[in-house]
Amino acid sequence: MKVYIDGNYYDKEQACVSVFDHGLLYGDGVFEGIRIYNGTVFKLREHIVRLYQSAKAILLHIPMAMAEMQAQVEEVVKVNNTHDGYIRLVVTRGRGDLGLDPAKCPKASVIIIVADVELYPPEYYAKGIEIITSSSRRLPVDGLDPRIKSLNYLNNIMAKLEAKQAGCLEAVMLNKEGYVAECTGDNIFVVKEGRLYTPTVYQGALDGITRATVLELAQKLNIPCEARALSCYDLYNADECFLTGSGAEVMPVTAIDGRRIGDGKPGVITHRLLKAFREFIAAG
Ligand code: PMP
Repeated sequence: MKVYIDGNYYDKEQACVSVFDHGLLYGDGVFEGIRIYNGTVFKLREHIVRLYQSAKAILLHIPMAMAEMQAQVEEVVKVNNTHDGYIRLVVTRGRGDLGLDPAKCPKASVIIIVADVELYPPEYYAKGIEIITSSSRRLPVDGLDPRIKSLNYLNNIMAKLEAKQAGCLEAVMLNKEGYVAECTGDNIFVVKEGRLYTPTVYQGALDGITRATVLELAQKLNIPCEARALSCYDLYNADECFLTGSGAEVMPVTAIDGRRIGDGKPGVITHRLLKAFREFIAAG
């Protein structure tokens, strides 16, 4: 495995960043997690756009034009000869002296890692998973806009720990008003009376690439969909529920906080969307 760091390739064991990198010291940076299917990078342009928007929001100058970044990611995939896998694209504030001031860091660092993808077992897709709601709230817009995909994931990690302690894979994170935002690394959808609902980005959801793809596919399948505020009540009383994310793709949820969702099996619309998503990927 060859890791790209600032213009050079390194073996996995030699791929290191400085202890003075503000990404490490302060979580000062942004990132993307991207899938490679059948030798093609999935929605690369959309991921690059989101990366640059996250960077702009934190006043981080990426020392590469978007087109150059896109070509660089594709080159790393080629160098690693990866057919199916996962790309972690990270831009940190770079190396600087101690102290929060980003001006201490003359140049941002660009890191591109291509790794094997850790797939969820197929039975999860067949049976669905159980999730909980976490006591760790999604950050409010006036704290750190959740649309920024930054290196600050500690509250998501707290929620993930809570999920694991409850024997679950994922946890729902609410926003500070108590509305559903998303999960620790996935967006959330519910189906009620044939209609698809997902929280808006203003309720604390990341503008997920898989979320957007699913909304597009739903429109093509004539499934009415709407982004709107959802509470736990809406989750518990949904007919169907599923999560979306680059890793999870479309993952059925069959129980939330001990409440069975619908009849406790992955729903019909969830299945249609999962199938449509997989067909969309297969079509390249
Ligand atoms: N929410 C959060 C907090 C995430 O980190 C991610 C990405 N892992 C998602 C949602 C899903 O986004 P995407 O579909 O772009 O992977």
